[in-house]
Amino acid sequence: MNDRQDSSSSGYIVIVDDRPETLQMLSIMLLKQGYKVRQANNPQIALKRIFSDPPDAILLDINMPEMNGFEVCSQIKARPETRDIPVIFMSALDSVADKLEAFSVGGVDYISKPFQLAEVLARVDTHIKLRRSQIHLQEQAKLLQAQNALLQGEICELFSTEHDLYEDLKLAVKQNEFELYYQPLIEFDSEKIYCFETLIRWHHPQRGMISPLDFIPVAEATGIIGEIGKWVISEACRQLSVWTQQFPDHGLSLSVNVSGKQLIDSSLVKHVKQVLAETSIEPHKLKIEITESAVMLDQNIGLDILRQLKNLGTQLYIDDFGSGYSSLNRLYDFPFDGLKIDQSFVRQEKWVLVNAITMLAITLDKDVIAEGIETAAQLETLKILACKNGQGFYFSRPVTAKAATNLINENIKSLES
Ligand code: C2E
Ligand code: MG
Ligand code: MG
Repeated sequence: MNDRQDSSSSGYIVIVDDRPETLQMLSIMLLKQGYKVRQANNPQIALKRIFSDPPDAILLDINMPEMNGFEVCSQIKARPETRDIPVIFMSALDSVADKLEAFSVGGVDYISKPFQLAEVLARVDTHIKLRRSQIHLQEQAKLLQAQNALLQGEICELFSTEHDLYEDLKLAVKQNEFELYYQPLIEFDSEKIYCFETLIRWHHPQRGMISPLDFIPVAEATGIIGEIGKWVISEACRQLSVWTQQFPDHGLSLSVNVSGKQLIDSSLVKHVKQVLAETSIEPHKLKIEITESAVMLDQNIGLDILRQLKNLGTQLYIDDFGSGYSSLNRLYDFPFDGLKIDQSFVRQEKWVLVNAITMLAITLDKDVIAEGIETAAQLETLKILACKNGQGFYFSRPVTAKAATNLINENIKSLES
């Protein structure tokens, strides 16, 4: 019996045989091929070696005096840490019964003596490779399982957050937790505030202010957007009628965002008509912003509702223009009054695109509005590109109705001076 041999990445093999010449011959051959080899000339030593340092494969003699190879194999298979090691049986007997027994106790192969060395090598090599790919697959499966568990957790969390948001949204409508903020739109040449875009805010009783980017998608997915959208229109028109009485000569208009999901319910048209009548607002002072992606959706019912809104006399604007996919043909047929250039183009100073969109709007005889203006330099470039109106933090962030009223007052004063 020799000690475990040095070095090899081909694999580590334990050879168990009571005959020294067999051990010797197999060891030399496997060592030459770069395997690490340990020998055991009796079953007790073999099991001790295998359990203390599990090999990649075992070559196991069947006929040994103290305990035969089948029993050794059964003990190896009984332990989880050695259960999956490939055991290749070796025997001088080429009997069918032995072969059957060998496979029934968990052996993976059976080699008859005298050996063809090339055959032994090929079989050892194949079983080690198979075992390695099995281990690799098991590791991958474990990794996938772990990733899956993580993902499941995230989905549950997301779902329960969205579910909570939905329940809270239902209450928010009843409990009046929404507020409209107003961002001024400026006519560049005169510096006049001629319009405000209304932007919804939600004051959640526990979570504080929630951005529309976080709750509008939930409202859209659950259908509650219909109710919220109607409140927005009522509140916007109420505020506009207050400002119209307060500043009768200023000619202010108001812009509201309408989700594509609101365009499946024709009661929206009735609601707008009723609110306009109740607040005595001239319909063209109400601008409806609908995103490009919603306009381009192939939903006839949505287009029909937009046409009905247009027939009431309101103005239609396509919001975030350039960020979605537009069919020019559809655009040509669509009864819109203006385009709002997607704010990312201004922020990233993609002036070629801004210029192209402005030219398109001018050619179609439509209004064009730049969004997301944050610096004086951006404003100057927009003026050069023949864009006449816009909004952005450079002029003002969205503010409360009270703060917006102050902005109008200041604007009137500065226009007079
Ligand atoms: P939007 O209609 O394109 O509104 C412009 C958004 O850009 C607003 O974000 C505004 O605060 C922000 N913004 C304006 N100027 C600048 C600027 O110079 N720089 C930067 N970085 N941002 C600027 P907000 O208020 O968070 O609204 C986000 C979006 O939520 C809106 O995009 C609109 O699609 C949606 N939304 C807001 N209110 C309503 C609503 O009442 N109904 C519906 N359906 N959607 C709404
Ligand atoms: Mg908008
Ligand atoms: Mg926009």
